[in-house]
Amino acid sequence: MRIGNEANIVLRVSNLCKYFPVTKGVTRRRVGTVRAVDRVSFFVRDGEVFGLVGESGCGKTTTGRTILRALEPTSGIAFFDLNDGSRPFALFDLEREQLKAMRRHMRMIFQDPYSSLNPRMNVRELIAEPLRIHGVARTRSDIDDRVATILQAVGLEPGVMTRYPHAFSGGQRQRIGIARALVLNPKFIIADEAVSALDVSVQAQILNLMQDLKEEFGLTYLFIAHNLAVVEHICDRIGVMYVGRMMELADTEELYHRPLHPYTEALLGAVPRSEPGPTVEHQALQGEVADAANPPSGCSFHPRCIYATDFCRQEEPLLENVAPEDAPPHFVACHFAERLSLRGI
Ligand code: SF4
Repeated sequence: MRIGNEANIVLRVSNLCKYFPVTKGVTRRRVGTVRAVDRVSFFVRDGEVFGLVGESGCGKTTTGRTILRALEPTSGIAFFDLNDGSRPFALFDLEREQLKAMRRHMRMIFQDPYSSLNPRMNVRELIAEPLRIHGVARTRSDIDDRVATILQAVGLEPGVMTRYPHAFSGGQRQRIGIARALVLNPKFIIADEAVSALDVSVQAQILNLMQDLKEEFGLTYLFIAHNLAVVEHICDRIGVMYVGRMMELADTEELYHRPLHPYTEALLGAVPRSEPGPTVEHQALQGEVADAANPPSGCSFHPRCIYATDFCRQEEPLLENVAPEDAPPHFVACHFAERLSLRGI
């Protein structure tokens, strides 16, 4: 699959694979392989929010962690470009010091604001830790100034600096997590299910905050979520993953109004529409996510797909651009994407 030949691309990932061995017994004999991420390619433009969506276990979090090198890739290529004239980071070739330099510009916001903050550190220590690790601020007053400024940016009073995580609500803790990610003034944020653990009303507040911070700090996001309802209003483009593979990738509006993969269509069936407009009937998602250690033959979605044929059970579909020449790309991995588009979805 050939993607993105543009100049303003911040992150470009090509054919990323992350496989985990399946072992057995005390000798840990290798008996199989989990293909958690399998030949995944995409790019993220400067200032864009790119969503990675799919059910739990589809490989989206592993993709994010591998890009950040919290996990080592099995194979693939990824470039992270600050677009400031400096040489792009070849992410999977970085040595220790280069990795540290890269991580100053690429930060992660974690899913669970309850477990991602060390309960023994107060807010000042939590937010100052990245400054200390990267040697960005050395004096006490400089650190205090930076921590106070970023606390205000995420909607918290500088007076909370001496308090500990247990004194805050889930939404406030996630604001602290966001402050921790932003205090180094990064270029790129990987938000891994950043609002999933929060109540729906708090989710909206945090999403609005993230959108405001994107404008204020000139950020680019890789936004990982299992729920298409969460990403609709924040993402510019979305990639849908299933059992380690990219199944569909398109502009957000196109994906919501003209989903071409039955998996996307089924995920959309679970999204309540909040706005007036034509009602679109989508098939509900049935069955369980396939086992990545023992994926189905052919198209991995076939056991759950209402359109599956014998051909689908034998031949794996490739991810291909099916958009007209003059339209933005719309990639889909389904033998019958054309048939779905003719159904007028
Ligand atoms: Fe369904 Fe076949 Fe398309 Fe797979 S290739 S999504 S089984 S129609």
